[in-house]
Amino acid sequence: MENFVVSARKYRPATFDTVVGQSHITTTLKNAIKSNQLAQAFLFCGPRGVGKTTCARILAKTINCLTPTDDFEACGTCESCVSFQKQGSMNVYELDAASSNSVDDIRNLVDQVRYPPQTGKRKVYIIDEVHMLSNAAFNAFLKTLEEPPEYVIFILATTEKHKIIPTILSRCQIFDFKRIEVRDMSGHLANIAQKEDIEAEQDALDLIAQKADGGLRDALSLFDLITTFSADRKITYQSVVKNLHILDHDYYFKITDALLAQDTPLALLYFDEILRKGFDGHIFISGLGAHLRNVMMCKDPSTVKLLETSEKVKQRFAEQAQTASASFLLSALNLASECDLHYKSSKNPRFYVELTLMKMANLAQVIKWAENPVAVPAPQAAPEKKKSEPQPSVSQNNAPPTEEVPTQMIQGAKLERVEKENPKTPILPKVNVNGQVAAGNGAAQSINKPFTKQDVQSALNEFKTVLRNFPQDRDKARKASEYLLGGKVEVKEDFTVEFTFDDEAKTELIDFYREKIERNLRNRLENQTLRLAVLYEYVEKKKKYYTPYEQFQYLKEKHQQLNDLSDRFGLEVDL
Ligand SMILES: [Zn+2]
Repeated sequence: MENFVVSARKYRPATFDTVVGQSHITTTLKNAIKSNQLAQAFLFCGPRGVGKTTCARILAKTINCLTPTDDFEACGTCESCVSFQKQGSMNVYELDAASSNSVDDIRNLVDQVRYPPQTGKRKVYIIDEVHMLSNAAFNAFLKTLEEPPEYVIFILATTEKHKIIPTILSRCQIFDFKRIEVRDMSGHLANIAQKEDIEAEQDALDLIAQKADGGLRDALSLFDLITTFSADRKITYQSVVKNLHILDHDYYFKITDALLAQDTPLALLYFDEILRKGFDGHIFISGLGAHLRNVMMCKDPSTVKLLETSEKVKQRFAEQAQTASASFLLSALNLASECDLHYKSSKNPRFYVELTLMKMANLAQVIKWAENPVAVPAPQAAPEKKKSEPQPSVSQNNAPPTEEVPTQMIQGAKLERVEKENPKTPILPKVNVNGQVAAGNGAAQSINKPFTKQDVQSALNEFKTVLRNFPQDRDKARKASEYLLGGKVEVKEDFTVEFTFDDEAKTELIDFYREKIERNLRNRLENQTLRLAVLYEYVEKKKKYYTPYEQFQYLKEKHQQLNDLSDRFGLEVDL
């Protein structure tokens, strides 16, 4: 069995050109070599795993190469390069200040500096994590750093630049390594995957790159980890989500959709699902903030490039941005960041996140009111009242199908409830920016648009798809979506929309989704006073008339003349 070499070592770049995502540094170094103006002391700063040590080694190798290429890269074949590659070169000396930070370690190094290189041109001393050197060690080193022999180059590397004392900083040429961008990193991973004959989804590599947070070494170890887990040499998005215990970005899309649809219960259910999968509420809320930020970036074409995701995911963000207003996103971002900030100090963090979600779900409504402080529809909570009211016998299963209930009575009962829910629209005074109440608010116009039966039907047609793909109670929702267009639609003058079904089960099912349908119609038709009533119409033709008396009564109802006739002449039917 061949030895497993970790990817970070196996694919460590050997030339400046193959260093990932630090072209601003490699170009400068190459130019310095070309013009022979190399400084004698460098300070490489930057986060872990972004290529500081790698660049230092490449620099050492390149300046010692006997036959550099025209492009001033190391040839990789000469005696010096080969000894570098075998890590046997005497011209590079590495000190890890994290483990060897005593005065003796530095004295040892300073002693070596005195001897010129046996072969090659320059001796390169790399001191990693230089901020870990003790004060005494620093002082022992300063003199040498100030006046190094001309054949010596010092490369100091640190992750914490602020801990480096000014006397050192002023003697070094400073290079700031940046965190490697996701697309550079996933491109590099894709390259390795290809070489290793591993089938990898682009989204999966992007996710690894995001998780590595700018550090290529971390990305490569994650990559190795996932490869080890996957038996069939395939890296899928789902396998990364599972193995790295990452919160699937699908959740953020779905929750944002729910928030936009003002569907508080759905958003809370998703959050519960996330918690039950073992994710931390804090991770969720900061992730939601990042998601909303990405959606916001998609509101303007010029900021789309700030998204560090694949084209496919970018497309999804762009689609969501179409449905979300900038005001909504800004307010939601605000809420998310506030929650993120105070999460740790909250006594009941779960409730805190839930409260934030509830606020977010109400944003669309609040913004609408703020934009049009004129007509305020009845509060959303109004339908709650129906629980305390006697339920009309409309959608109850225990009603025997042949029971004779006049249609008018059923409609009356339902309509009455609708009327109660729809009190006279209160008119709020107009308030200007300074909070002063403007005069003449009586002349305010309602912003609620009128609509026709056709508008309702086309809105229903669209909502049908939404309902069919509803995540909760899938079978039920799918069934409801099939019935949705099966009812009779009528639009009343007071913007009440009546759905009438001639089947009890259908009525009950649609009534279950009544609030959701109503909310959708309100938003879609831009009319916040719209009310939806789901009615059951008892269809008489289904009834059988058995006795002659029943038959006569039926005929009397149907034909007014017969009624008049029997009344006027006092006719009796001989039964
Ligand atoms: Zn060479």
